[in-house]
Amino acid sequence: MGCCSRARATGAWLLVLAIGTAGAQAPVAAPPAGDPLAGMDRTVLPGVDFYQYANGGWLQTAEIPPDRGSTGTGRELTELNDRRIADLIREVAASSAPAGSDERKVADFYDSFLDQARIEARGLTVLKPQFERIAAITDRAALARYLGSTLRADVDILNATRLYTDNVLGLWVAQDLDDPSRYAPFLLQGGLGMPDRDYYLVASPAMADIRSHYRAHIAAELKLAGIAEPDRQADLVYALELKIARSHLSRADTEDVKRGDNHWSRAQLKANAPGLDWNAFLAGAGLARQQQFVAWQPGALTGLAALVASEPLASWKAYLRYHAIEHNARCLPSALVDENFAFYGKTLQGTPQLRERWKRAVSFTSAALGDPVGKLYVARYFSPADKAAIEDLVRHLVAAFAVRIDQLAWMAPETKVEAKAKLAALKVGVGYPDQWRDYSGLQVVRGDAYGNQQRVELFEYRRELAKLGTAVDRSEWCMTAQMVNAVNLPAMNALNFPAAILQPPYFDATRPLAMNYGSVGAIIGHEISHSFDDQGALFDASGRLRNWWTPEDFAHFKASSEQLVGQFSAYRPFPDLAVNGRQTLSENIADVAGLGAAYSAYRSALGDASAPLLDGFNSDQQFFLSFAQSWRAKYRDQTLRQIIITDGHSPAQYRASTVRNLDAWYSAFDVQPGQALYLAPAERVRIW
Ligand SMILES: [Zn+2]
Repeated sequence: MGCCSRARATGAWLLVLAIGTAGAQAPVAAPPAGDPLAGMDRTVLPGVDFYQYANGGWLQTAEIPPDRGSTGTGRELTELNDRRIADLIREVAASSAPAGSDERKVADFYDSFLDQARIEARGLTVLKPQFERIAAITDRAALARYLGSTLRADVDILNATRLYTDNVLGLWVAQDLDDPSRYAPFLLQGGLGMPDRDYYLVASPAMADIRSHYRAHIAAELKLAGIAEPDRQADLVYALELKIARSHLSRADTEDVKRGDNHWSRAQLKANAPGLDWNAFLAGAGLARQQQFVAWQPGALTGLAALVASEPLASWKAYLRYHAIEHNARCLPSALVDENFAFYGKTLQGTPQLRERWKRAVSFTSAALGDPVGKLYVARYFSPADKAAIEDLVRHLVAAFAVRIDQLAWMAPETKVEAKAKLAALKVGVGYPDQWRDYSGLQVVRGDAYGNQQRVELFEYRRELAKLGTAVDRSEWCMTAQMVNAVNLPAMNALNFPAAILQPPYFDATRPLAMNYGSVGAIIGHEISHSFDDQGALFDASGRLRNWWTPEDFAHFKASSEQLVGQFSAYRPFPDLAVNGRQTLSENIADVAGLGAAYSAYRSALGDASAPLLDGFNSDQQFFLSFAQSWRAKYRDQTLRQIIITDGHSPAQYRASTVRNLDAWYSAFDVQPGQALYLAPAERVRIW
């Protein structure tokens, strides 16, 4: 899920700190024990600049690694975790785990990818079977069957938010949004080699430049793969992708749940999207008996089917050969890997250097064998005591939310009943899934990096297909335990808090309770609140797509959120660029709600117990300092600009300023009128 780095898509509410498995060069140590409040700048008044007060010392010395756009709390923990995972994999690689065991599979998958000499020696012979199957396509039915055979479970609309696949379509098996008791197969648009249709269709010079690089890249990759007439073939590939792009729905429209929830029978599929032999396609996809589908972007299905009928077979075969190469490039000889990186890394992302092979091996292994790696991670780094402590924290947060719902002035009584029902049904996953997935059906062959990748994709696909017709399992996770992140699964009415984020400095059983509530408690509160905001209002307690708010509720919610829009739009890190209070509104609301609920929860968890001073700070002060320190971050200017323009989350320093909306922060730090962060009581936003 490395795709969701610092991006929030409507419908999937990732906390999003830092994703990715590239490690920095310099060692990253866990924060020094015994000094949980290190890195402050006490020369600044808290009411003037609380972020600087909490983090000024750290900001002065922190350095952004040369291969990164930012550093900070989330990033540092991710780097640390990546090294831990690499060590765990190397340990099992060095062990004598028996053949067929999960550990052996992890070790063999990793070793196979590391064995570059063997990959070079095998060369392009690994692609031969696929090229032969493409060459054997002689009519439209065979084309449809081949296209069906490329379908994989590689997309996810609401949970992990993976909206793109390079195959012509992607499959997401998830609960039916109209009937949460059963699974439905969602068909999503795909087939493009560039990230989104905008790269093909937007007229700007920058996009045109990327397009010309892409065409050259297609030709270069085909040439390296020994395909005759690579330039002419590249023209065919690009022309077909452009036509596919024209049929695609925009990203914004794709995220519109009501627009996507189209139930089509097999007969409707044939009637609405003529030109593709759907029987052949679905048979190729292993869906021969499936009768009902969800067509998320109907126009893309119609467009694809028409192109299957209208475009010459020669164009399709050129396209399929190219996609077979590109889809598997990571497991091919280095000349193809380098050409792939030249476009996807350098041109598209501006990354100067390809990550070292072992780091890529860690990423691929952790993604391909998510649960076996997660099991190793949890056994070493997440104790039963930690799990119990976090679960206790969650209970206090949920209870605090229930009280807050009762106390809301703007929510109609009947809506409160629905909200309480939804809260009661909320399924909170802490650390790792209740049940690890079974990998006994997956064959990993040492020395066959290419084949392993193919088998993993097919294994995952078959696992998803097997869900159709079975009861919905709300305990299933969409994140791995070793991911530094957290997520709200709206249709499942569930939350995942992976073990990797339940670590210092977000959670540390050895430090005062108030500090854990200020950091991980606020994160948990943030995710819970998404179930009850304007997006969460679309899904009821069972996960059914049914708006449970009254029109008056919406009106009140909108009015009170306007204040928050103004508050964040006033943050202006560059003379020409301010934070967009509207774009970041949902996340800012979740931050205010999460912090408020975490504060109530911490007070109730503390009860009458006396909290110890820490370094002279009382427990309320510890709570808020811990919150501000959990948002510790340093950005390169370009990165900060990009976040402000493209991200649904506010930059970290402004998320830390959420404290301005809580009365308790004012008394904790004696914040006075006239100080920069001071808000009069009426200006403090209280949505929850
Ligand atoms: Zn969020």
